[in-house]
Amino acid sequence: MSLAELEALDRRYVMGTYARATVEFVRGEGSWLWDAEGGAYLDFLAGVSVNQIGHAHPAWVAAIAAQAGRLAHASNLFYSAPGIRLAERLAVGSLGGRVFFGNSGAEANECAIKLARRHRPGGEMVVLADAFHGRTMGALSATPSPAKQEPFAPLVPGFVVVPRDDPEALRAAVGGHTAAVMVEPIQGETGINPVPFEVLVAAREACDAHGALLVLDEIQCGMGRTGTMWAWQGVGVEPDVMTAAKGLGGGVPIGACVTSPAYGEVLRPGDHGSTFAGGLLVAAAAHAVLDVVEAPGFLAEVAAKGEVLVEGLRELGLPGVRGRGLMLAFDVPEGAAFVRRALTEQRLVLNAPTPSSVRLLPPLTVSREEIAEALRRIGALL
Ligand code: PLP
Repeated sequence: MSLAELEALDRRYVMGTYARATVEFVRGEGSWLWDAEGGAYLDFLAGVSVNQIGHAHPAWVAAIAAQAGRLAHASNLFYSAPGIRLAERLAVGSLGGRVFFGNSGAEANECAIKLARRHRPGGEMVVLADAFHGRTMGALSATPSPAKQEPFAPLVPGFVVVPRDDPEALRAAVGGHTAAVMVEPIQGETGINPVPFEVLVAAREACDAHGALLVLDEIQCGMGRTGTMWAWQGVGVEPDVMTAAKGLGGGVPIGACVTSPAYGEVLRPGDHGSTFAGGLLVAAAAHAVLDVVEAPGFLAEVAAKGEVLVEGLRELGLPGVRGRGLMLAFDVPEGAAFVRRALTEQRLVLNAPTPSSVRLLPPLTVSREEIAEALRRIGALL
């Protein structure tokens, strides 16, 4: 089927919620994608921080194939080791409490929102300006973007927005009426903007003072993306609850809401559930991703490669280079046009989260040669 025919089918049968680039990817390996004509593209987007260990990683493929051949789904009505062991692995490597699995980032955040409300019934959720927490009604209510929210009003009540860069405003918004403060350590969808350390500290202190939960959304910045397993571990501000998804499954849908020990029993039997969540297949995939990301030296290498990439972008004279590890962005006058040219002229996959920025989220397994090649291609565009 030609690309034109595929586009026509998409227009006819798929709800038009996505603006797609005119390419069909049919195969991937490591940091590379191939289109239907055999053209190779260097992937510096990784499915928006999903293909954490690259495409078709042999151990990941083998883990999924083996699990699919044994048992793919049994239901949360029964015990299954891959999901339970994954919960152990996530909890032990982070907050030490308990885990609820979902199928996406939005679902992980829905769990965190429900958990916060269960913790403090009727309590407010404090979120930051420019946050992105997802598109389901609860997560959307935590995403203060008029364009995304207004068509779907009324939203879930009880969400309060404070400026991103103002610790005092955040402190002032939190009180005995607050269920949780919810923050992305690095705001991804709105342009790769690290939340200032002082704001994270203010959130931690205000939550401690008033018995509210600090929820950190690690959906885009977690799973090794910034050079530590979780971004908060690099910052040193520990949440009560964190959410993960995207890179956790390395390309299959899984999300997780992880608590500290104090909040592991807030949600009670019957409070929440999801048919597919934490199923055997996706859990097997997530173990394979963790095996790679937790290997000795891997995260230090992510940080080092990130520095090489930052240095290279700065040498190209690009303004506004920012981010941490392999979660980076720079400014350009026309983000979407730059990304389109990168794809068509240089076969480099990038993304423009805002009209004037371009972000880079390569697989964490990207090689230094591939980083040099991406920089060469960006340089050619300039
Ligand atoms: N939270 C953050 C920080 C995200 O970047 C995203 C997706 O981009 C989400 C939540 C929502 O995740 P999903 O699209 O898997 O529902």
